[in-house]
Amino acid sequence: MTPSNTSVLLIYTGGTIGMIENTETGALENFNFEQLQKHVPELRKSNCTIDSYQFDPPMDSSDMEPEAWRKLVKIICDNYDRFNGFVILHGTDTMAYTASALSFMLEGLDKPVILTGSQLPIGVLRTDGKENLMTSIEIASAQDADGKPLVPEVCIFFENHLMRGNRTTKMNAENFNAFRSFNYPVLAEAGIHIKYNHSLIHHTREKQELKPHYLLDTNIAVLKLFPGIHENVVAATLSIDGLRAVVLETYGSGNAPRKQWFLRLLREASARGIVIVNVTQCSAGTVEMERYETGYHLLQSGIVSGYDSTTESAVTKLMFLLGHGYTPEEIRERMSRPIAGEITL
Ligand code: ASP
Repeated sequence: MTPSNTSVLLIYTGGTIGMIENTETGALENFNFEQLQKHVPELRKSNCTIDSYQFDPPMDSSDMEPEAWRKLVKIICDNYDRFNGFVILHGTDTMAYTASALSFMLEGLDKPVILTGSQLPIGVLRTDGKENLMTSIEIASAQDADGKPLVPEVCIFFENHLMRGNRTTKMNAENFNAFRSFNYPVLAEAGIHIKYNHSLIHHTREKQELKPHYLLDTNIAVLKLFPGIHENVVAATLSIDGLRAVVLETYGSGNAPRKQWFLRLLREASARGIVIVNVTQCSAGTVEMERYETGYHLLQSGIVSGYDSTTESAVTKLMFLLGHGYTPEEIRERMSRPIAGEITL
């Protein structure tokens, strides 16, 4: 239900949704928010009041940086009391990282923050952008009979599916259904009606104050294993100057080679205070280091489980925890506790 007295702040960061083809070069270039509105006259017909904020210049999400996440948090925080919800238009390439980061940075969130974008620019006839945009606005302003928001979470809405943001991955560069939440069911499905899975949506019991966080530390590496990986590749990664944490992308349920040099390098790095988090290369499923001997050795080398976390979520959660000055031991411990529903224990 979208009551008519609701308001949504539309934050336009950039991405394909707001691009137009350069007639000379054929390349896609950003255009501004007014032009976007021209292509979506439906915006004016919406039940709720829509205000906008535009990144200037709009950015391709491949250029996304923690600085822009801080900016988004600040915009949401400064406008928190004025709006019922927020819709962020964002490029699809790094949308899952932004959604994950925001879910950690916006502590106590009790309003919807819905990220969306599109695979085809909004000015193109077959665009998926209009549908994504209009439904996101409807979700961001949806309330129950008591006036409480239906989805007070950071989410991604894409191609009919509303997903918890920190559970998503971009998994298709071609199709309209670009995002999936492999390890957590969708929060809502949009067909003729928007059907919400109320029991899966996180609600705070009491009214909370929004507590924005701005501190992030990006001294992180992602190390993806592959058969035949060289000792010097692992050694060089683990000895990067200033490195504080590693997301180790392992096989299956969290398995890795049992080679002596490999386990020794991990043990030594852990002992130096580098936090190493085990995340599976599989799209779905969870890390269970106790399951096979190949995983058990990692556990003994001081590696912590990332459970069923996406890489995007593990990376941004580490940035968040490292930024807040916790000790390596505290970070290891906090990696095994959900902050915003990002892991299933
Ligand atoms: N390169 C674009 C971006 O992520 C792709 C998109 O928007 O889908 O900004």
